[in-house]
Formats: sequence, C-alpha cells, structure tokens
Amino acid sequence: MSGHTCLVVMYHYVRDSAATAFPEIRALAPELFARQLDWLQGQYSIIDLPRFEAALNREASLPPNAVLLTFDDGLIDHYETVLPLLQARGLRGTFFLSQDACGASPRLLAVHKVQLLLARLGVEAFSRAVLQACAAPGIPRTASPEVFGVAPWEDEDARAIKHFVSHQLPFVEAERVLEELFARHVGESDAFARRLYLNPGMIQEMAAVGMTFGHHTRSHRMLARLSPGEQADELRSGVAWIRALTGQATVPFCYPWGGPHTYTRDTPRILRESGYSLAFNTVRRRVKLGRDNPYELPRIDTRDLPPYTAAEPPPAEFFSREDA
Ligand SMILES: [Zn+2]
Repeated sequence: MSGHTCLVVMYHYVRDSAATAFPEIRALAPELFARQLDWLQGQYSIIDLPRFEAALNREASLPPNAVLLTFDDGLIDHYETVLPLLQARGLRGTFFLSQDACGASPRLLAVHKVQLLLARLGVEAFSRAVLQACAAPGIPRTASPEVFGVAPWEDEDARAIKHFVSHQLPFVEAERVLEELFARHVGESDAFARRLYLNPGMIQEMAAVGMTFGHHTRSHRMLARLSPGEQADELRSGVAWIRALTGQATVPFCYPWGGPHTYTRDTPRILRESGYSLAFNTVRRRVKLGRDNPYELPRIDTRDLPPYTAAEPPPAEFFSREDA
C-alpha cells in the first residue's frame, strides 16, 4: 500500500567494536551499515522526519516503501560514523538524546554502565558483583522478553541481571551500585561519558546540515517505574532543550527500552501535553499512518533487515502480521 505506511528503523551503536577498548559491545559495523543503506536505497525511499510528520498530519503523502532512519541514545558514533555516511548519500536521520548524556554536564547513563560492565566482566562476574554490592538475595528468573522490547538477539544469560538492575532495583540503589562497579572495573564515569556521547557542539553541527533531533527522557529511566508526576519531570524540559539546541519547530520522542511495558497508559498523554510531536516505541512492524496512535508508533531494529536477515525482502509476515 503506497503512501499509507512507513518503515521506521532503529539504530544504536554504529562502530567497529573490535577496534575499541570494548570489543564485546554489540554494534553495527560501519561497512554493514553502508550495506544496509545500499539495500534500503534499492528497495525503499528514505525520507526525513519533517516529511514523516507532514504525512502523519495528513499534509502530504509518502512515497511507496517509505523508510525513516532513527538513532537512539546520543552516541558519538552518530557524529563520527553515521553523519558522514548519511551526508555522502544526501540522506537525513533522526537522533534521540537524553539530557543527562548530551547536555552541558554529561553523565554516563545507567543503561550504558550495565552494557560496558557486562562487556568488561562477562555475565557471571557482573551478576555476582551486582549482588555483592547490593546484598540482594538473588536474581529473579522472571525477566519477560517484552520488558526489553522483544530482542531475540539479546544474550539470554544477560537478561536476568539486566532486568534486575533496570526494572527491580530501586533507581538510587542501582545508580550507587553501578557507579561503584564502574569506578572499580572501568574508570571515572564522567570522563567516559564525555567520550561516549554527542556534545552540544556536535548536535548543532548535525542540525545545521539537516539532521533532526528528538528527546529520549532526561535520565533514560524506565517510565513504567515512575508515577505520572515523575514521568512529567523526565519529559517536560525536553522540547525546550531540543528547540534551543537545534531551532527545530517540532520535537519527537522515543521511549527508553521501548516495549509497551516500559511505559504506562498515562505516558502518551503526558508526551502530548508536554508538546512532543510524536513518539516511537519498539513494537516491530510498519507504521500505519492514520491508524496508529502518533504517540505509540512502531519501529523495527536494524537487525530485522538485510544484511542480517537471510530473506530478501524481509519476511512479509513480519510487516503484515497486524494487518491480518
Ligand atoms: Zn535508549
């Protein structure tokens, strides 16, 4: 169906992990990203966010097989690697930032402390260290896949400890434990944050060449664990912050983690009231314009597409499941 659906692809790390101090970090290699762009440009029309928003508001139609490229977490990879690859092809991406990571005083987000510590220590040693540091009785084996937005490629063993740290430990306790372990096993976290994330100068440079930015909460806490008032605290300053940085008229949002269980029934309303133009979750299918809630728009992952998937084009049932 032309013009009424859009595929939205989500990216995180785009780097040659083997060449970094953390070769275990799961990243999309730059040459695979380039191959995926080749594939997308052969099959799809890559659009930018203003065009997507115009279609969402019924002010314009989309080309057949429209696709939007989105990049989460404000990683420096998006400046060093993604920006030149997109610019060389005349393409534009949409980049989602947390203020704690990309603001004036960058702090390393808990989600990245967990990833980096897992990479440095391995699942077993990290799990042991967390339990020792917080004197918890044991890791509950109840992690449900949808909590993390259904990621079949996610290391099965790491799920329980990730779930425990992100979903069950009180925030303050998790912050204390992760900071302590990071300092002991990796180093000073503020210094690390300054090398991991985009800074305001990079963001402004990217905005000046047509890249679009959105908000991803202030601190990347899981919204489902917060009261409506606490959620509003995470969300309310994002629109003004992104506008001041980029001059954008509209500001989109994407949910941390992103599965429907990572936010609450109040969240889409709070986002609308806070002035965001739309919000992406990680329900893996196409966006159906005019039918999907603009504050719960689905996205697929880079790993759902070639060159990761053997099938070409990607399996039809993957995209049409909810149309049936
Ligand atoms: Zn994120």
